Formats: sequence, structure tokens, C-alpha cells
Amino acid sequence: MLLKVLAIVVVGFLVYIIFFKKNREDDTVKKEEIEDELVECKTCKTYVSSKEAILSNAKYYCSKECLIKS
Ligand SMILES: [Zn+2]
Repeated sequence: MLLKVLAIVVVGFLVYIIFFKKNREDDTVKKEEIEDELVECKTCKTYVSSKEAILSNAKYYCSKECLIKS
């Protein structure tokens, strides 16, 4: 009986560890995807990283020049 309880606790712990690890990995992947997301410049149609893009009126621009031209 005690062994059974121990086995359940161990299995439950392992499942918890696996799921917890998986969720953490998923979070990391999601963050990387957001950081590496490519957005299209509204003016010249060039794809630029959303980190480098300029966001104006919910539209992305690759540079100030394109923002002025738009
Ligand atoms: Zn542009």
C-alpha cells in the first residue's frame, strides 16, 4: 500500500516536472518568435524585424524615410 502511494507520488512528480519544463520551453519559444517577427514596411514592402521597425498608426515602417513618404 505504501509502495503504491509512493509510486503515485513519484509519477505525479515526474509528470509535473515534464509539464512544467514543457510550458517553460513553450514560453521561451513564443518570446523568441515575437522578437524575431518580420513585419512588412507599408511604403517599400521590405520585411524588417519588428524590433527595428517603426510603428506608426498601427503600421510598420522600415525607416524614418518610409514613414515620411507614406
Ligand atoms: Zn520602407
